[in-house]
Amino acid sequence: MLTLPTDVILEDECLRDGLQIEQTRFSVEEILEYVKGLETAGVRRIQVGSFVHPEWVPQMAQTDAVFDRLERRPDVIYTALVLNQKGLERAVKCHVSHLSVSISASETHSQKNTRRSLADSLVHIRTMISESVAAGICTRGGIQSAFGCAYEGAISPQVVCDIACLYDSLGAQEINLADTAGLANPRMVFDLVSRLRSLLSPRVTLSLHLHDTRGLGLANMVAGLQAGVTLFDSSLGGLGGCPYVPKAAGNIATEDAVYALEAMGIATGIDWRALADLANRLEGRLGRTLTSRMAHMPRTA
Ligand code: ZN
Repeated sequence: MLTLPTDVILEDECLRDGLQIEQTRFSVEEILEYVKGLETAGVRRIQVGSFVHPEWVPQMAQTDAVFDRLERRPDVIYTALVLNQKGLERAVKCHVSHLSVSISASETHSQKNTRRSLADSLVHIRTMISESVAAGICTRGGIQSAFGCAYEGAISPQVVCDIACLYDSLGAQEINLADTAGLANPRMVFDLVSRLRSLLSPRVTLSLHLHDTRGLGLANMVAGLQAGVTLFDSSLGGLGGCPYVPKAAGNIATEDAVYALEAMGIATGIDWRALADLANRLEGRLGRTLTSRMAHMPRTA
């Protein structure tokens, strides 16, 4: 019999991973409304934005203002992404309790994304994680291109394991494997997660960030479940991509993931129908149809 977890947590990253590459600018007001919409649907982890240089990612320039005005519910975790020291300082000022920092396991993707070599990134992330943990922030160390790179192809699982073990040794509470290029397949996910779980301290939570570029997103989620993962990133409507990965698609749509999980008897606490309505609203705002399946199904489905 297939053994799967009874409960899963989804972290919606639409407002960060999704909006960061959109031409349409959302006001602070609007972002707060989408946060409310996600909360009302039952989402309990929301990535609200990123503290990156406003010139590089102008869509995220108002993350500080969003955190300032956020009405934080005690049962919801609000996360943000930081990539440098300055970002970390801004996040601390905004009293962010849960931060993501990340590097790429691919030399080429790292150079394109941050103009840093993998070796430099490792030095840099060491400081970032140590300082974030020391500031009392629950810290997630992310590994981009963990299942393959759009430029280099295969990425050695050993490289990924070495980075994950470094994060563990620095005290990161969570480690996130990101399929940035959408090159993962279910067997690869099961194997890498199983290998990592045998290497990492039991206190570390392992989570998956799955882009649906080749249509394997939900299949990969199920492989992750089989390997014991209970925390997944997803994105309302399936919005998202990566500016440095050609043809990157968004994360698995949160409403699709909720539907799949609940259909398998796994509790998420989220109402997919409410999310589907919110995804339709987002489509109206962006003026295009998103990749979500459940947003376009009758609500009786
Ligand atoms: Zn992503």
